[in-house]
Amino acid sequence: MTLRDAIPVRSDVAEQAKYTRYRDDLRADFKGRCGYCDDSDANLDPICFHIDHFAPQKLFPDLATAYENLVYACRFCNMRKSYHWIGIDATVPNDGERGFVDPCDESYDEHLERSSEGAIIPKTELGNYMIERLGLYLLRHQTLWNARRLRQLREEIDPLIERCEASGLAKSANYIALLKRYRALTKEIDRYEGRAYD
Ligand SMILES: [Zn+2]
Repeated sequence: MTLRDAIPVRSDVAEQAKYTRYRDDLRADFKGRCGYCDDSDANLDPICFHIDHFAPQKLFPDLATAYENLVYACRFCNMRKSYHWIGIDATVPNDGERGFVDPCDESYDEHLERSSEGAIIPKTELGNYMIERLGLYLLRHQTLWNARRLRQLREEIDPLIERCEASGLAKSANYIALLKRYRALTKEIDRYEGRAYD
């Protein structure tokens, strides 16, 4: 299945003197998801997410405040990417087998996908490079994706419990109790998710 639900799009934003001032715009454009691994910041302290310079600012200081060069990224992807770049040209992010693809580029998802268990797996040689370099194989990315799915499932369970309770049928009692236990467990998982960066 596809790695991400949607491809992030960078808006036209007012130019800023410091890249850190783009944080809110960037977070909105990336919908609170890491551009590389798709982890969500929904249950986390916002400082756990970083602003990544796609073409590293250490190598290309002229692009330090260029919005089109910024990626909303989780701490794990940002730190692993660091200042890795395959050459000396900011406009050449990869050679087809090594390097990176801008997460806002439609072709990003041509290189990576998700297994049915939620692991990020390669579709191409370049995808394999990104998995190794960014640590996209880390179990945390799979775990956080599954935690998100559990939250979505809970939204389906809540109305189910309400309907069963409203029916007033005594024979539903065990069923309702089971649903409530399940819902409580998914909330426990939320708590772990919130501690994922401790
Ligand atoms: Zn990430």
